[in-house]
Amino acid sequence: MRAVTSSQGSVFVGDHDEPAGTGELITVTSAGICGSDLHLIASGLSGVILGHEFGGFTTDGTLVAVRPTGECGLCPQCTSGFPHMCHQAAASLHGTSINGGLAEFVRVEPSRLVPVPAGTDPATVGLIEPLAVVVHGIYRVPLISGMSALVVGSGSIGLLTAAVLADKGINVDIVCRHPHQFEAAEKLRVNAVSKHATNYDVSFDAVCTQESLDMCFNATRPRGSVVEYGMIWSSIQLKNQMMLKEISLVPSMFYSHNHEQNDFEDAVDMLVRHPELTTTLITHRFSLEESVHAFAVANDRQAGAIKVHIFTNL
Ligand SMILES: [Zn+2]
Ligand SMILES: [Zn+2]
Repeated sequence: MRAVTSSQGSVFVGDHDEPAGTGELITVTSAGICGSDLHLIASGLSGVILGHEFGGFTTDGTLVAVRPTGECGLCPQCTSGFPHMCHQAAASLHGTSINGGLAEFVRVEPSRLVPVPAGTDPATVGLIEPLAVVVHGIYRVPLISGMSALVVGSGSIGLLTAAVLADKGINVDIVCRHPHQFEAAEKLRVNAVSKHATNYDVSFDAVCTQESLDMCFNATRPRGSVVEYGMIWSSIQLKNQMMLKEISLVPSMFYSHNHEQNDFEDAVDMLVRHPELTTTLITHRFSLEESVHAFAVANDRQAGAIKVHIFTNL
């Protein structure tokens, strides 16, 4: 089968054996390129098929999204309802630790499969993973309808955050810089601003740099919260703003999937109810064979990409 790997900072499309062993064989239809893929490739990731944002069809024809994280099922984190904090979550992550979905086929443990309603466009199911990231971050803070929120960063995670917050009745502003980001916010019917106001109940940092985190602390009211998404790739200083205003800094990692909360199921629900998410967010689509170019587009700030998707077997 054809699949995408990386070595010494470059991306390759090549021939690989079809996946053997246990797990459900998934015929991949849709896979997204993520900012974290770009960071990991630049830092030398190799030896694994890329892609942690993907979905496709099981052998019986069910359309599924895939939760890429694993779990051991036995450790205190697993048995206390937080399997996403298990050491196995990252150690068996598709696309970084085990083979991912930028391929024609991939084997996936059945417990990681999330059914998607029939009739959903199979080319869009790769967007469910970043939506689950966003749902998880929003659940990390107590939010009730009518509260105010700021989103800093208007890439895919920022725009999805603003859309999910608006769906929950939160008054949300999103800081945008470039014309295509303002356009996307307008299509999602969320309020784009070039300069934020102050005293938001919660701010969401979808950039994870010193500048974006400082902006969140400046914009948040005393005793409010700042949610930090994703990975901090270079060290960041915490300033006295946080202390002086007693702001809670809330990290958000992966997605919950315990009895009370299943972020992937909520993400599927969001995708189905809001078709404008896929039409707005997936700005570029390429075939698997075009993956080298697709990664170049995802890496090029001038290209105006929000989410670059690879379609396979369609
Ligand atoms: Zn991702
Ligand atoms: Zn565990």
